[in-house]
Amino acid sequence: MSPPAAESDPAAPEPTPRRRTPSFEDLPLHPRLRRGIEEMGYLEPTQIQQDAIPAAVGGRDLIGTAQTGTGKTAAFLLPLLERLLSGPRGRIRALVVTPTRELALQAQEFLRVLGRHADLRSVAVYGGVGMADQERALRGGVEIVVATPGRLLDHMSRRYVDFRDLQVLVLDEADRMLDMGFLPDVRRILASLPRRRQTLLFSATMPAEVIQLAREFLTDPKTVQVGETTAAAVGVTHLALPVPAHRKSDLLKALLDDATMSSVLVFTRTKHRADRVARQLSDARIDVGVIHGNRSQSQRVTALSRFREGRHRVLVATDLAARGIDVEGVSHVVNYDLPEVPEAYIHRVGRTARATRRGDAFSLVSPEEENDLRAIERHLNVTIPRARLPGFDYDRPAPAPPAGGYRDRGRPSNRGGGGGRGRPPPRGRPRYARR
Ligand code: AMP
Repeated sequence: MSPPAAESDPAAPEPTPRRRTPSFEDLPLHPRLRRGIEEMGYLEPTQIQQDAIPAAVGGRDLIGTAQTGTGKTAAFLLPLLERLLSGPRGRIRALVVTPTRELALQAQEFLRVLGRHADLRSVAVYGGVGMADQERALRGGVEIVVATPGRLLDHMSRRYVDFRDLQVLVLDEADRMLDMGFLPDVRRILASLPRRRQTLLFSATMPAEVIQLAREFLTDPKTVQVGETTAAAVGVTHLALPVPAHRKSDLLKALLDDATMSSVLVFTRTKHRADRVARQLSDARIDVGVIHGNRSQSQRVTALSRFREGRHRVLVATDLAARGIDVEGVSHVVNYDLPEVPEAYIHRVGRTARATRRGDAFSLVSPEEENDLRAIERHLNVTIPRARLPGFDYDRPAPAPPAGGYRDRGRPSNRGGGGGRGRPPPRGRPRYARR
C-alpha cells in the first residue's frame, strides 16, 4: 500500500523557491562564443552579464553600470561578438572607445580569447607606437576596432577609416569619455559614425549629468544598473592612515615590511610624485615599477606586465591606471595621495578585490587631505576607519629644506590622461557639458 499523501498545512510557510544557478546557457550566445567563455574560465555569468547581454544582443542601446571588477568588459564584448557573428567580414562593424592605451590593449586581449572561435578580427589603435600596422589593419581586414580617441582621430584624418558599416559603438568608462577632457574628441568621432547603430555605455561610476549628456547619443536606452554607482567594490576593506605629509614615504615603506602586501598598487596625484615615490621604494630595495602619462609606451607596457607577472611587487601610478586595469591578485591599493574626486577613489580601490576576491585599500591622509577624505566618505556613504601603524615614528620632524629651497616640481599636471595627445584633462572634479 502506498503511504498516504501528506496533507498540506495551510499555516506552514511557503517553501522558498530554490534559486537556480545562473548559466551562460540561458543567455542568447552562440555556442562558438560559449567555447571562448569556457576558455576564459568563466563558469557562470555575473549579474551585469545576466542583465545586460540579452538586451544588448537584442539590439537595444544600453547604459550599464556595475561595481568595479564585476565583469563589465565581457558584458559588452559578448553581445558585440554575438551581433557580429553573422554578417560581412573585412569591414569595421564595431568600435570600442577607451580612455587609456592599457584599457584598449586589455579589451583587445579579452576579444582575442572570447572571440577565438568567432572568426572576427580586431585591432587596438592607440598612441605612443607607430601608425603603420594600425593603418594596415584599418584599411581592411578587421571587424572590431578598440581605440583611444586621439590616435583614432589621427587615423580618421587620413581618410582610410571606413565606418560606413559600423553597427555597434561602445564607450568604455563612459563617464570619463564624456568629461571635458575627452568630450570634444568623442564628439568628432561620433559625427563620423552612422546614426543608425547600437550604442553601449558602461562604467562603474555614472554621475547623473553624464547620463543626461549621454542621452544625446542614445536612442531609447535601457538602463542596467547593478549596485550603486557611488559604491566601492564589495570585497574591499578600507583604512585611512592619518600621517604628516613628510612622513608618507617612510610610512609606506614601513607598511611594506608586511609580507602580506604582496602585490601593491600605489597611487599618487602627479607624475612627478609617482617617479619620486618609485625612486624612494627602489632605494629601499623594493621591486617597483612606475606608470604614468610621461612614460614611453614600451615603459608603460613593461611596467604593467612585470607587475602582472609578480616581478614588481609594487606599481606606482597616477590615475592613468585607476580605471579598468585588470591585474589578478592585487592585494592592496595604497592611496599615497587621495584623489581629487570621490569617483576616482572608487576606481582606484577597484583595482583590488576583483571578481569576488578580497583586498585592502589604505589611504595615507595628511592633515591637508582630511577634507578630501570626508568628501569620499560622504560620496560612498561610509565611515572609513582611521588607524595608526604601531611603532611607527609619526613625530619625526621634516628634514631641513636644501639651501636655495625646493624647486616647484610637484604640482599636479596631467592626472592620468588619455590618449596621449598632450591634452591634460581639466583639474578638479570632471566637468560635463552639453553642447
Ligand atoms: P571587468 O569588470 O570586466 O574588468 O572584469 C573583472 C574580472 O572578472 C576580470 O578578470 C574578468 O576576466 C573576470 N570575469 C568577468 N566575467 C566573469 C565571469 N562570468 N566569471 C568569472 N570571472 C569573470
